[in-house]
Amino acid sequence: MINQEKKLVELKNKLSEINDLEMSGALLNWDQSTYMPSGGAKARGRQMATLAKIAQEKLIDPAIGKLLDDLRPYEESLPYDSDDASLIRIARLDYERAIRVPPEFMLEYNLHSSDSYQTWAQARPENDFKKVQPYLEKTLELSRKYSDFFPGYEHIADPLIDVSDYGMKALTIRKLFKELRDQLVPIVNTITSQPPTDSSFLHKIYPEAQQLRFAEKVVRTLGYDFNRGRIDKTHHPFMTKFSLGDVRITTRVKEDYFGETIFSNIHESGHAMYEQGINLDYEATPLGTGTSSGVHESQSRTWENLVGRSREFWIYFFPFLKEEFPEQLRGITLEQFYRGINKVERSLIRTDADEVTYNLHVMLRFDLELALLEGKLSVRDLPEAWNDRYASDLNIKPTNDRDGVMQDVHWYGGFIGGAFQGYTLGNILSAQFYAAALKAHPQIPAEIKTGKFTQLHEWLNKNLYQYGRKFTADEIVKKATGSPLTINPYIQYLKTKYGELYDL
Ligand code: ZN
Repeated sequence: MINQEKKLVELKNKLSEINDLEMSGALLNWDQSTYMPSGGAKARGRQMATLAKIAQEKLIDPAIGKLLDDLRPYEESLPYDSDDASLIRIARLDYERAIRVPPEFMLEYNLHSSDSYQTWAQARPENDFKKVQPYLEKTLELSRKYSDFFPGYEHIADPLIDVSDYGMKALTIRKLFKELRDQLVPIVNTITSQPPTDSSFLHKIYPEAQQLRFAEKVVRTLGYDFNRGRIDKTHHPFMTKFSLGDVRITTRVKEDYFGETIFSNIHESGHAMYEQGINLDYEATPLGTGTSSGVHESQSRTWENLVGRSREFWIYFFPFLKEEFPEQLRGITLEQFYRGINKVERSLIRTDADEVTYNLHVMLRFDLELALLEGKLSVRDLPEAWNDRYASDLNIKPTNDRDGVMQDVHWYGGFIGGAFQGYTLGNILSAQFYAAALKAHPQIPAEIKTGKFTQLHEWLNKNLYQYGRKFTADEIVKKATGSPLTINPYIQYLKTKYGELYDL
């Protein structure tokens, strides 16, 4: 065993070097999205591609394969959930996936993604889909090629989905989403046939400095640790991490809409609190990150929606908000405010969508991704297919591509396939985890009313966050909630909350 333990140290050292390269790439990317002048873009894209290439070369080093083989008896001698066995298991998963993909391909893909992203960033404000079309065509080709490195798949999207939501299959998700859509569409129709809720007070002028101050106070109270994090401004808010001791979020402000900064700050801090909660022993190992995009999104949505858009939450925070914005909120009651921030309406932009319609935006993107990959839809016809789906699913038709097919960065800066399902899986899971937390601690809502989030935060730390990637999404969902993924708690949650709001 002494020999085995030496080998494990050797493996950990190699993995830690790979992690250092990846985290350095994340720092370059964070800088690009926050402070870098636009003149740095071309070189930065190349620098990030170079780092990614070196990391990939190190990961596919046959010496790692040899260590993983040598360590198999040691792994098998340990319990499945021991840290060492889990580290070896997850490292093997990463290794076996990486060796299928030639480094030249990854380099080509990374360079292409960077060019494609820059082109989209220019073409979107100009509403010029033709400009991005050739890039998107190449992306589709590369996405198909990526899947073909994993022959034997059931659906061509499966290898792409596997990267972000390990173990999930396109056909399973398609079935699940159909079930959800069948439940959601009648709810949306009933709600939107009612007179619209007044939320005009959210669109008064809320000065930037005050919005930022209030949003920071909120995420600090929720438990986002500023000793291991910070907030900077960007165009499209995101969470990123350079180590377990440095988990950052980014934000943006729209002075004429109060909901933007506050809810995106809570959302990103939900992602960040997940990462900050990971066992510190997993630093610089493959275990030291969230387990899947669905589970990650479940945490941003838990804090943003189940907590941050709840009545209990605003019973505590609304008086502070009124203190900060007395003019803007003059005469507005807590109840009016609560209804305003939970207004349901058909809209064109996914990131602005309410809880009830949000998944319709996601699910149509998922279907379009599959159609592109299956060869049933061409990139040229994508804008029209997009608009048709908005007409049929949301009863609203985009009048331009900027607010249509070009609104999300995902396809323009990454693969087509695997990019969107995590959002809806996350919504479904957020309700499932939250229901389990409430079952264990029924007093959580009463605590939230007093501005305390410790019981919820501790339950999430103990049952989910601490494990990082040790367990797969499937495993952690069963372990934390006692059941496999199910849409029932989510449907129940929406029906209860919006049933009360809209007298359904
Ligand atoms: Zn998110």
